[in-house]
Amino acid sequence: MSKVVLIGCGNVGMSYSYALLNQRTAVSELALIDLDKERVEGEVMDLNHCLAFSPSKMNIHSGEYSDCSDADVVVICAGANQKPGETRMDLINKNSQIFKTIVDNVMKNGFNGVFLVATNPLDVMTYLTWKYSGLDSSKVIGSGTCLDTSRLRFLLGDKLGINPESINAYVIGEHGDSEFVPWSNADIALQPIDKFLNNDELEHIASNVKNAAYEIINRKGATYYGIGMALVKITNAILGDENTVLTVSTYDKDNDIFIGLPAVVNKNGVAEKIYLDLSEEEENKLQNSVNVIKNAINNLHL
Ligand code: NAD
Repeated sequence: MSKVVLIGCGNVGMSYSYALLNQRTAVSELALIDLDKERVEGEVMDLNHCLAFSPSKMNIHSGEYSDCSDADVVVICAGANQKPGETRMDLINKNSQIFKTIVDNVMKNGFNGVFLVATNPLDVMTYLTWKYSGLDSSKVIGSGTCLDTSRLRFLLGDKLGINPESINAYVIGEHGDSEFVPWSNADIALQPIDKFLNNDELEHIASNVKNAAYEIINRKGATYYGIGMALVKITNAILGDENTVLTVSTYDKDNDIFIGLPAVVNKNGVAEKIYLDLSEEEENKLQNSVNVIKNAINNLHL
């Protein structure tokens, strides 16, 4: 029996909810919160009409912040999304302002579960959630580069005719323009990825991953199905106490930021981080990503 409170019922929040309903998950109660209460009522009705066909049995209802008192996971998808041509970092002022109120309201009600953040700029919003909540950093998780990693595995699998689940490759760093693929750590059946594709092919794929959100937003205005599934994957790892390795945004004590790195996720949140052996060039790319996130946080004048 596990309870999830979702704050922000737009494209991303509702894709997450619908993806939850389409899977057998540990979620038994889903409370929906949004500034637009009428929309929430409509979404609750629509989702409840799926239950007769869903593999999960769930109590889905309009929520209040008091619902956070006994929630296992609070998922935050509230806030502005990118318009065509906007970067994720361009959202920083709008979204950092609403997060203080949201996180304060959650904590005022005695929340002691795990936060899962999807709002952009992701690593900054995850950091703010941690700062405002006062929770241990292990209990605050951002979706990080989970979606980017899924995009990477899809593109590699598509090119090679191999199931993406059999491909071990990650996107790490900022969920944003400085993210990168540490190819030195990518393999298929323990065979290094450069046995399958040459450098130009790999870089072409990495560039398509990095630009995927822009390409989708130019065509359909927003991206949401991929992140919805990524959030379900992380929710399942938490509620199922799975110890699954995911590239979530997690606390980096040395730099006092949150950043996307492989980490073990279980019922306590992030149980531990897994450090990758990186080439010198990859170390520089990671440092660049660290600097981008750090500068963004420092410019917030908290
Ligand atoms: P959307 O505009 O469709 O929905 C946002 C919702 O947030 C709206 O329903 C709005 O009413 C609600 N909201 C705003 N302020 C609120 C508040 N104070 N309290 C409660 N609800 C509030 O946007 P979207 O497309 O769903 O995107 C949401 C966020 O997710 C954006 O920041 C977007 O950039 C981000 N996103 C992240 C990823 C990822 O990989 N992490 C992927 C896609 C989108």
